[in-house]
Amino acid sequence: MNGRTDDCAFCTLIAGKAPAYKIMENELSLGILDINPLAPGHCLVLPKRHVPWWHDLSEEEVKSLFSLARLMAQRLKQKFKSDFISLYARGRRIPHTHIFLIPTVSGDLTDRFFNALEKFQESPEELIKIKNSLELIAATLLDNPSI
Ligand SMILES: [Zn+2]
Repeated sequence: MNGRTDDCAFCTLIAGKAPAYKIMENELSLGILDINPLAPGHCLVLPKRHVPWWHDLSEEEVKSLFSLARLMAQRLKQKFKSDFISLYARGRRIPHTHIFLIPTVSGDLTDRFFNALEKFQESPEELIKIKNSLELIAATLLDNPSI
């Protein structure tokens, strides 16, 4: 059993019960076109097993997912002449791990969005308080022997 759920859009797609533009796959992961692209070639890379959060994947699944993401990114960069391939994973909209791969050129929509996010990251008062606590945060992380 792969943990598939009948009400998960990605599990339905992986099971072949919904159409998808499949681009590449390996034993544990599948790469498809995003049906709501932010740029030509915008792809998603999914584990074939239903796992809501990427950090709950097995070590083998992580290797599979990022290996496929890298291969797809190399093809996307070549085919769409992008400067680089943006990568992010969130998983709030569809709770099945998926990595976004977006061919990006300087000044396009994705580049402007992340530039704005990075600029925002440096400004709000609530974030400055966190920035001023970096030593404590680092100590908290280092003190946890289970990580
Ligand atoms: Zn799923």
